[in-house]
Parts: sequence; structure tokens; C-alpha cells
Amino acid sequence: MTSEPAADNHATHDCRRYIDNLSDYADGTLDDDLCRELETHMEHCENCRVVVNTFTKTVTLYHQLPAPEIPNTVRERLYKVLDLREFRPEDDE
Ligand SMILES: [Zn+2]
Repeated sequence: MTSEPAADNHATHDCRRYIDNLSDYADGTLDDDLCRELETHMEHCENCRVVVNTFTKTVTLYHQLPAPEIPNTVRERLYKVLDLREFRPEDDE
């Protein structure tokens, strides 16, 4: 029952939960409620906006291939992006 500060201490575990649903989201098969939840989260979370943008682009590319599954390597890379940003709260590039 802890309320985490939303501003600087970004709750990346929330992001990871959403990332687990990203493939469905990108496919447009994600549950409507979750979809809205994810989009609401993205409004306040630049990390997820970047990840989702990257992810949907990747998915679009992969849709041109016969393999419907997102490779684990892609997911791993997404997690790494979040982990990196977790250590660099001031993303000033
Ligand atoms: Zn997020």
C-alpha cells in the first residue's frame, strides 16, 4: 500500500506489465479496457511512448514476414531500454 511518487521515481514495473501486452496492443487485439489503460499510461510516461513507437514499428516490419510472434530478442531490447532509462531519469539528449 505504498503510493509511489509519480514524477521522478518512475514505476517501471508498471511499464513492464504493459510491455507484456504490447504485442496484442500492436495487433489491435488487446482488451479494450487494457488498451485505454495503456494509452492513459503512455500520456504520462515518455518511456512507454518511445517503447510503443519502436515496438509498433517493429511489429509492422514483422507483419511483412510469416512469423507472427515477436522475437524474444526484441522484447529483451525493450526491457533494456527501460532499465537504462531507469538509471538515467534525466534523459536530455
Ligand atoms: Zn511507462
